[in-house]
Amino acid sequence: MIALVGIGANLGDAGANVADALARLETQPGCRLVASSSLWRTAPIDSSGDDYINAVALVDTTLEAHALLASLQAIETAHGRERPYRNAPRTLDLDLLLYGDQVIDTPGLSVPHPRMHERAFVLAPLLELAPDIAIPGRGRAADFLAGVADQAIVRLG
Ligand code: AMP
Repeated sequence: MIALVGIGANLGDAGANVADALARLETQPGCRLVASSSLWRTAPIDSSGDDYINAVALVDTTLEAHALLASLQAIETAHGRERPYRNAPRTLDLDLLLYGDQVIDTPGLSVPHPRMHERAFVLAPLLELAPDIAIPGRGRAADFLAGVADQAIVRLG
């Protein structure tokens, strides 16, 4: 199954944390990193603190979606992520954006990620990897870019 994973960090050396998450995705059992986007710098949305560094990874996985999420959370935990309050600054945040074209709605996992189409920091890197991709139930990801044009985002390369 092809999965798209959103990665973000805004504490510590955020760029290094994102790079390490990409490296860990490659070595995670049942996962193969196929491609990763550029790194992007974005202002915090629904969050606080420094700017974020964001990226999206395209992963080929044999893991079932919930197992993949657990694997992503293990990477977060390895980075010592604490959750003192909702939307607190974070050393590393990994979201399962898309899992093939599946729609999953369980208490612990919603796929497509429910807010991915509202966030420039997801859409811009996602569209680098998959310009024609559709968000199941919503439509083409590219069609949502105009709606997030007011969100500050800079491609770092
Ligand atoms: P966050 O604070 O953004 O890392 O949110 C983590 C919580 O969101 C966890 O309890 C997950 O179970 C839940 N969640 C639901 N859907 C997703 C998803 N598609 N990707 C990541 N976390 C998800």
